[in-house]
Amino acid sequence: MNKPILSTEKLKAFYVLEVHGTQKVVKAVNDVEIEIMENEIYGIAGESGCGKSTLLKALAAVIEPPLRQLDGKVSYHVDGKTIDVSSLSADEKRKLRWVYVSYVPQGSMSVLNPVSKLKNTFQDFITSHVEGKSQQEAFRLAQSHIADLGLPPQVMDAYPHQLSGGMRQRVTIALAALLEPRIIIADEPTTALDVVVQRGVVQLLKEIQEKLKNTIILVTHDMGVHANVADRIGIMYAGKMVEEAPTETIFAEPLHPYTQYLVNSLPKFGDKTPRDSVPGNPPSLADLPPGCPFHPRCPHAMDICKEKMPEYIAIKSNHKVACWLVENEKNGQTS
Ligand code: SF4
Repeated sequence: MNKPILSTEKLKAFYVLEVHGTQKVVKAVNDVEIEIMENEIYGIAGESGCGKSTLLKALAAVIEPPLRQLDGKVSYHVDGKTIDVSSLSADEKRKLRWVYVSYVPQGSMSVLNPVSKLKNTFQDFITSHVEGKSQQEAFRLAQSHIADLGLPPQVMDAYPHQLSGGMRQRVTIALAALLEPRIIIADEPTTALDVVVQRGVVQLLKEIQEKLKNTIILVTHDMGVHANVADRIGIMYAGKMVEEAPTETIFAEPLHPYTQYLVNSLPKFGDKTPRDSVPGNPPSLADLPPGCPFHPRCPHAMDICKEKMPEYIAIKSNHKVACWLVENEKNGQTS
């Protein structure tokens, strides 16, 4: 059994907004407890606006909005020690980045310098993070890294806008893997790419993880991508984790009604019946319904669901879920 490399305790990330003189608290990440293992690809799925990206930023210690409340704990378990990331200064957090953890935000253009050839971006990245490397040594290191990952050498002489979206995304991921970080955190790396190009990006992530034996945390709302690449999947809804299990279990025996909708919405080979999508709209994170936040959309909602949030409990050693239906069944009660 692999050891944990990253864990959270009661992690909260709230944005506090002023709307027409009234303060609104946007509960983007609300009491999230996860444990992510060494040498695994952990997928996080959920609809847009459920807090996935804020969770990733909190895990990567890059969350810096002007108004925020950050609470709870994020710990990295690396090199035989536990680092409580939440208690570090901004400077100490910066030092952890790229070496222990690399964060690939949404949209490759936000990472690459648009007015710099990629070889310069790679060289600057190496010389500013690795002491004693000359520009020439940095160039050679970047070249061999690009070749190792099967990317064409010509990309080094290109500006970011000269590459296709898929190639730019692969170059961004190559940059994130350059210093062999123990954890790579990637936010929607396949969004806006066509299916064939998506496959290349997913394949690259898999190859990097196999080569470095590190951990990849991957956010995407595309369950098809998770099915291809993730070892375990966490399902997020309205700022909370509502189900977590190995990928095969999530697809074969989803327990939370929201997960069941996500799985059933995927097209199945040879099955022409219309797919079910999740009814209604996700709730506003600034105005969550009481009880289980999924209850206004849930076909199984009971009275208790409208009043009390279910606990996030382990149904099996590797399967957790937060749903009254499942909890009652486990306790031998019927609704
Ligand atoms: Fe549906 Fe109730 Fe389960 Fe929420 S707790 S998902 S409303 S059955």
